Amino acid sequence: MNIDDLEEKTAQLLPKVNRVQVRRAYEYASQAHANQKRNSGEPYINHPLAVASILTELEVDEPTLLAALLHDVVEDTGATLEEISQEFGAEAATLVDGVTKISGINYASQEERNLENLRKILLAMAQDIRVVVIKLADRLHNLRTLNYLPRDKQQLVARETLEIFAPLASRLGIYKLKWELEDLSFRYLEPDLYFDLARRMQRKRSERERILHESRQILLGELTQAKISGEVQYRAKHLYSVQQKMDKDQIPFEEIYDLLGLRVVVRDVSTCYEALGLVHAVFTPLPGRLKDYIAMPKPNLYQSLHTVVIGPQGEPMEIQIRTEEMHRTAELGIAAHWRYKEGGKRNSQMEEKMVWLRSLLDWQKELTDSREFLERVKVDLFADEVLVFTPKGEVINLPVGATPVDFAFQIHSQVGQHCAGAKVNGRITSLDTALHTGDRVEILTRPTAAPSLDWLGFVRATSTKSKIRAFFRKKDKVENLADGKVIFDKHLRRFLTGAKFSQAMEAFALAGEEDLYLALGTGALSPVQILQFLARAEAEEKASGEPKLVPLAPSPPLQLQGTEGMVVRLAGCCLPLPGDEVVGFITQGRGIAIHRSDCPNLAKLPDPGRKMEVSWPPHLKQTAFTAALYLRTANRPGVLKEITTTIADDNVNIQEIKAYPMASESTGIQLKVTVRDLGQLQHLINRLERIPSVNETVRR
Ligand code: MN
Repeated sequence: MNIDDLEEKTAQLLPKVNRVQVRRAYEYASQAHANQKRNSGEPYINHPLAVASILTELEVDEPTLLAALLHDVVEDTGATLEEISQEFGAEAATLVDGVTKISGINYASQEERNLENLRKILLAMAQDIRVVVIKLADRLHNLRTLNYLPRDKQQLVARETLEIFAPLASRLGIYKLKWELEDLSFRYLEPDLYFDLARRMQRKRSERERILHESRQILLGELTQAKISGEVQYRAKHLYSVQQKMDKDQIPFEEIYDLLGLRVVVRDVSTCYEALGLVHAVFTPLPGRLKDYIAMPKPNLYQSLHTVVIGPQGEPMEIQIRTEEMHRTAELGIAAHWRYKEGGKRNSQMEEKMVWLRSLLDWQKELTDSREFLERVKVDLFADEVLVFTPKGEVINLPVGATPVDFAFQIHSQVGQHCAGAKVNGRITSLDTALHTGDRVEILTRPTAAPSLDWLGFVRATSTKSKIRAFFRKKDKVENLADGKVIFDKHLRRFLTGAKFSQAMEAFALAGEEDLYLALGTGALSPVQILQFLARAEAEEKASGEPKLVPLAPSPPLQLQGTEGMVVRLAGCCLPLPGDEVVGFITQGRGIAIHRSDCPNLAKLPDPGRKMEVSWPPHLKQTAFTAALYLRTANRPGVLKEITTTIADDNVNIQEIKAYPMASESTGIQLKVTVRDLGQLQHLINRLERIPSVNETVRR
């Protein structure tokens, strides 16, 4: 790559950029870096040149391209920001300043460095997202030339990339950079794994080429027949994501079926659904594998339909369907939205989705306290996970609500199994505390410590749950028996007497007392399940004389005022009841979703034009609605029984009940019940609140 190549690429990809300015910036940087060399021995200027070249492919604007060429001059040479501002404009100078601020500064510890990096990047991003995009391209070129660095430096750069820069590219939706950042880091961190996987992928690819070719021909034929103009492309999963899938979900390589797949690119949204219909008509879809990211885009704006079908040779095959514009967004993410700012065609839907980003910019203006700002950014950018640090400064990703126990198992199963306590930010904390992004977590272990069944009530990661369950399955039978007996004595003994005991044994297919202890001790059966059974049995006894089973008529289709003739469903997030104030939301292809008007999700949904006024009719045919409650109770034996009895007395059915013992003196209980309307629910809440051991009852 030299300046002539860059000029040509710019002319091709960025016709609006002034190439005279590009050459001037190149000459300026070239002079500033004149005496510097890269580790490879090349002249230093090749680096900014390469960074600029990467950015042309992201379709950036002129100030970004100029700043890319100039990004290292302030840090590494005598050049000043004033000079850059005079020569190349204030915008380019601000960007260079931003990039300079992100890098540099050495911190005492790795941990401090990671935290500080994350903070700086988020701040820079809020000021101007282009700064971060330049930084990502800068990092990518450094990784591409990483073989010239000593081994320990390689590891450091690769690890930092996997922890901070690749997730950032992912959240900004810039997959074009993300996959390469990940694969290159993977290659330096785990060379053996990397090359082994690369070989296996290559073999699989040649095996499957014929099948993919055949499937592609079939699809193209169908599209032509339906007069749909579209493309069918091959799509391969990148190495790091395959490795992650194998690690995280414990899936062997042979069973990953989306290694290779097809992608159908069509003109507009309705054609996507039409194409999906065609795909499902020629190939049998695997049930439950259809994902509609068009109606529900990912937070990073990604949209597509994903489906898994049985291919011509009986093998599962993943097919993605999207529009050209969605494809562009999938590759470029946030970067895809620069164009319309420059006066291209405006797209109101895309604009809607950019709201969160713009609000970031606004906060940044309002807030001088960076800590507060950071808090708010975290909520948006890392909505679905928390990033915490080990004492050594490594970043661990966990789902929201994760606890020190999740952290311990994430580090290593052995750490989890001997976890005796935890320090968060240097202070001893209970094991059920929810962790927050930026927390520094230290696990205290003891060789004699072992997991407790209570942990299953508060851990968040599915992998933690399965690891804990595995531990108890393996545990000595004698211990399980003893634990089960303790649980039985504490929660069940006084209720499970005589005939009731034998009824329960029969209902849960248990051979006897010992069997019951084992089931309780291993966690296979919870005391709540048994109490629930007892409550039902008692309710049936009371009602005896009347027919035991009331045949349930299938619910008539739900209609609200304002939705006549349309498919209506109640939103699962807020579970509206007759009596609640409600709003309808027109979903794509799935009818009208009814939300409570105070549902927090409603505000997050795109396109306000899709909301509609609805209200409950005076006489509803449907009389069974689901409501969710959360109770906090004292940690006393018998309290579950009191709750289930109260609910049964109110003629309300329990659909689901889960208890979460907490380390403190209380227990959290989640309930799903069937009620007629808001009035009945309110009545139930009032009664539950009269139970002395119930401290709090809230509707979820
Ligand atoms: Mn650089």
